Amino acid sequence: MRFGLRLHFLLLLACVAVLGGVAGYRFYAWYSGEMVTVFGQRFAERNVLYEKSRVLGMVTREVTLVQKMATSQVLRAWLADEANPQIARAAISELEEYREFLRDRSYCFVFAGSGNYYYNDARGGANLYLPRYTVSPSIAKDAWFYLTLKGGRTTQLNIDTDRHTRLTKVWINTIVHDALGKPAAIACSGLDLTDFINGVVSSDLPGVMTVFFDRHGAIQGHQDVTMIDFASARKAAGKEAQNTVFNLLDRPEDEAALQRAMAALVGGRSEVEALDLVVQGRRQLIGLTWLPEIQWFILTMTPPTAAVGGNGLASAVLLLIVALNLVLLAALLILQKTVVSRVVRLDALAKAFGDSGHRVDIPEDRSGDEIGRLTQTFRTMSERIACHTEELEREVAERTEKLERMAQTDFLTGVMNRRGMMSRLEVERNRLARAGTLMGLLIVDVDYFKAINDTHGHAVGDQALVAVAGMLQHMVRDYDLLARWGGEEFLVALPGLKHLGELQAVADKLLGAIRSQPIVCGEIRLPLTVSIGGVFADPQANLDAIIHCADTALYRAKNEGRDRVVLECLLIGEDAAGCRELCPACDCTPPAGEGGFGA
Ligand code: GH3
Ligand code: MG
Ligand code: MG
Repeated sequence: MRFGLRLHFLLLLACVAVLGGVAGYRFYAWYSGEMVTVFGQRFAERNVLYEKSRVLGMVTREVTLVQKMATSQVLRAWLADEANPQIARAAISELEEYREFLRDRSYCFVFAGSGNYYYNDARGGANLYLPRYTVSPSIAKDAWFYLTLKGGRTTQLNIDTDRHTRLTKVWINTIVHDALGKPAAIACSGLDLTDFINGVVSSDLPGVMTVFFDRHGAIQGHQDVTMIDFASARKAAGKEAQNTVFNLLDRPEDEAALQRAMAALVGGRSEVEALDLVVQGRRQLIGLTWLPEIQWFILTMTPPTAAVGGNGLASAVLLLIVALNLVLLAALLILQKTVVSRVVRLDALAKAFGDSGHRVDIPEDRSGDEIGRLTQTFRTMSERIACHTEELEREVAERTEKLERMAQTDFLTGVMNRRGMMSRLEVERNRLARAGTLMGLLIVDVDYFKAINDTHGHAVGDQALVAVAGMLQHMVRDYDLLARWGGEEFLVALPGLKHLGELQAVADKLLGAIRSQPIVCGEIRLPLTVSIGGVFADPQANLDAIIHCADTALYRAKNEGRDRVVLECLLIGEDAAGCRELCPACDCTPPAGEGGFGA
């Protein structure tokens, strides 16, 4: 099977488009696969550190405020004289001022000596000058107070549910020292966990999800509140099912990897961990860090596509493929216009020329490029070949015509030969039959010609034949037909005769003329006579019958002593009757099978 140039180009375009598409897709796959592990992990680490900084930023501000509160002179004065109402009023108003700035709108101030716990929050309502309760070393829930006082650090964070207010908060506890530098009280504020988590889990990075969980994996903060593991501490001790971060992972190896990362962070071996895990059936890039202040992990998860601008990249690759194909299409169209269509047209012209061999109209191409030059060359070449072909055809036609003429001409006398006469006679007879006129036919036979040959030689005989032909030609009318019918026999056809008398006159004239003009060949004078057999015929009779009648008449002329004219009639109807009047002896009957009329 052969393909045209155009189809080749189309196939080429399709191949390149497919290859381009595959290459583009492979590039995309490589980029979004390999590059994700490089950039995506870094992205995940940055994310989680950013979230950590947000959390710490929030905590740090509160810690600073509480520390500042702990150094207040008014509060220190209150340490020395808790019961003094004036000092107490100043201290409480100082605490209230701080409360305005604290995010939680709450403060607590607990005296080490009396154990009195002063507290207020946004709800207000209580008598601020009275302690809410009194802490005691004998109450387990108050352990935090004594632990903090004894603890090495001035400020400590503690997640706890207050036994009286029943609020679970991240508590920021700071030791207040008295004038002697002794720990005399604890100033504190809290961070409402819900508020705190809401501020962080709703990440401001698109596609990124933040999850908080404790060291056991129990989820503490999640966009979806149903995922949060409430009352984790109690559950961890018992056997209740927990909402853990591990439940989100599908593969055991991912859980092990997360456990390892958690251990490394808690152990202080790293500040941040990046993991590539399958979370709830989807590949996610994980950033993980540990917040020792609140004893929680922060985990951020980002889909790889979001990490490396997946959708944008996919569109860019798609755009690239489309652009590539458009460029290819444009290239094909240009190629089609500048090369293919011209070559295809040239091919069609060459085929048309090859098939016919005749002149084809090849438009000029003056572009000057290779195809232009090829077209011009082909144009010149085809022009030459066409000229040559036409010349040859003309020559052949001329020769054919000449041969045809020769084939119908007697080479000795130059008049028509029998073959020529037969074809002309047939045409003439038909024409006359249509015109409704009659015709005459004479066979002129030289008498005793053999004797001339025998006496004077063949050459003289030839000359005598030429002379007889010349005389006959000279005497017949332009529209009569003359042919050499046989060796020394001539046939004269006379169309358009009206009656037998006319034929008789012509025959007599010919007979007389030949008899009266001896042939002269050099020294030799040859007196010649001829016998003429003729027929006056209706052209509707068939040709063989007409000729047969003329032959019969000639035969009679010879038999009756030569040098004479014998005529026959081959007519029907009135014409036949008229002829018989003039020629009573006429009784030509064509032999059976050569039927005179209608055969
Ligand atoms: P008749 O009066 O009965 O016609 O006698 P004839 O001798 O004319 O007739 P015959 O048929 O016996 O002889 C015809 C001769 O014509 C015989 C032949 O050699 C001669 N002849 C035929 N064709 C040519 C030719 O082309 N040139 C010459 N020189 N002689 C020819
Ligand atoms: Mg003869
Ligand atoms: Mg003869």
